[in-house]
Amino acid sequence: METTLRGVGVSHGVAIGEVRHMGTAVLEPPAKQIGPDDAEREQGRARQAVEAVAADLNARGNLAGGEAQAVLEAQAMIAQDPELMADVDRRVAVGSTAERAVFDAFSHYRELLAGAGEYMAGRVADLDDVRNRIVARLLGVPMPGVPDSDEPYVLIARDLAPADTALLDPALVLGFVTEEGGPTSHSAILARALGVPAVVALPGAGELAEGTVIAVDGSTGEIFVDPSEEKKAELTRAAEQRKAALAASSGPGATSDGHKVPLLANVGGPADVPAAVEAGAEGVGLFRTEFLFLDDSKQAPSEAKQYEAYRAVLEAFPEGRVVVRVLDAGADKPLDFLTPADEPNPALGVRGLRTLLDHPEVLRTQLTALAKAAEGLPVHLEVMAPMVADRTDAKAFADACREAGLRAKFGAMVEIPSAALRARSILQEVEFLSLGTNDLAQYTFAADRQVGAVSRLQDPWQPALLDLVALSAEAAKAEGKSCGVCGEAASDPLLACVLTGLGVTSLSMGAASIPYVRATLAKYTLAQCERAAAAARAADTAHDARMAAQAVLSGE
Ligand code: PEP
Ligand code: MG
Repeated sequence: METTLRGVGVSHGVAIGEVRHMGTAVLEPPAKQIGPDDAEREQGRARQAVEAVAADLNARGNLAGGEAQAVLEAQAMIAQDPELMADVDRRVAVGSTAERAVFDAFSHYRELLAGAGEYMAGRVADLDDVRNRIVARLLGVPMPGVPDSDEPYVLIARDLAPADTALLDPALVLGFVTEEGGPTSHSAILARALGVPAVVALPGAGELAEGTVIAVDGSTGEIFVDPSEEKKAELTRAAEQRKAALAASSGPGATSDGHKVPLLANVGGPADVPAAVEAGAEGVGLFRTEFLFLDDSKQAPSEAKQYEAYRAVLEAFPEGRVVVRVLDAGADKPLDFLTPADEPNPALGVRGLRTLLDHPEVLRTQLTALAKAAEGLPVHLEVMAPMVADRTDAKAFADACREAGLRAKFGAMVEIPSAALRARSILQEVEFLSLGTNDLAQYTFAADRQVGAVSRLQDPWQPALLDLVALSAEAAKAEGKSCGVCGEAASDPLLACVLTGLGVTSLSMGAASIPYVRATLAKYTLAQCERAAAAARAADTAHDARMAAQAVLSGE
């Protein structure tokens, strides 16, 4: 009999197919003792396995490109961490086999991370993945990860490590469902980049029997187990209608009565540009430059290296707008050479702009590289700072931009509730605002974006979040300035209409979402979007807000 489960839809589309589970068995090698004569050989085996796994992760990164590459390269660096290797050597020297020493050294490090606060949950998953790969290699057993199958399937996992998400073959993996992860986790962002329908935060998904047929609706977050033929037909019809609407949509983003809302792409580097151009992005609304910084744990990339990456992105949109965000390090994106190691709560510590103001040389190099990259190009360069809390922050950033001789608009991201509440004051220093709704939700609801258990509060339909968006957009309008959205909220087509109705002036998202948002926005007038926005704000819950907006837009 058909049953329905509900998670959080994070990547549009419908997938119908058989369930295959991710190989996640924790491989615990037996605690065998070795003699002192074997220690050197075992240390050599451990080193070889580590090098092979790091090389494999780097190779997967090269294949995947873009944001995925940076994430995989960061994982390769975890594998080669000198302190971890030294710990493995020590354990082998006192009698452990290579595999047991790797297992124990990583477990020890894992405990340290887990004890450092919930924010490290995402990192722990990465660490476990690297450990399992090294141990599997040492034991000569198949690598954990995406199942081997020639037939297309729906992948079920507890959480997906970036290494696996990056290499999902859209021809084989029809869609995926995870038990953990929130709508703004890295897995969700990468799924959208791939264009594979996905649902996250569905506890119990792991209990679905291998081979069960399910239908995944990545837009609504619904999973239909053993769907009837009628249900399959209904979902397929709806998906086809959506596809046809997409194919018919092209050109700049606008409501049906011609109110323009530029649709921009979120990119992590030059590798993401082709997909953005193909999707018809009118520019880049968020260039996450921190992905350029993940290669080296000890120092920032050189000005020349940064110049190359910036120039490549700017050249791709000769007449368009490119909004570059300066380095956003710290919290879920720590950098060894910048991020304090001993903060009790890094999400509330020195991160984003705070890090850059403590390291002005890093900001200066970045701004100088950007100024040079824009030279001689007609592109509209805009530069913005993450995690601006108040006018003092905004002024410090604008001063740094001016000192670097940057000929660009300077802006502030609204990611902290204080910035939304005092948006007019911030706008005395900068020329535009960009709402980072992922962090804005995290800080408004005190709900860590890495933790699946609090994903209800990470839902951008939460009316309190919509209120803060409205405050920011109203402030920008009063100051005659722009206020875009570059958080994941912009990639939800219905919410994009509501954001437009709230007065947001541009929407930036992963390239794969652009056609969906363009097609939906084109169906409604600005007045309808405004009515939907008012109805959503009048609701008390995220669910009711969505329903209210839907009812207004469908004319119920
Ligand atoms: C955000 O917080 O909404 C945002 C766009 O920044 P990031 O997801 O990179 O933190
Ligand atoms: Mg952010």
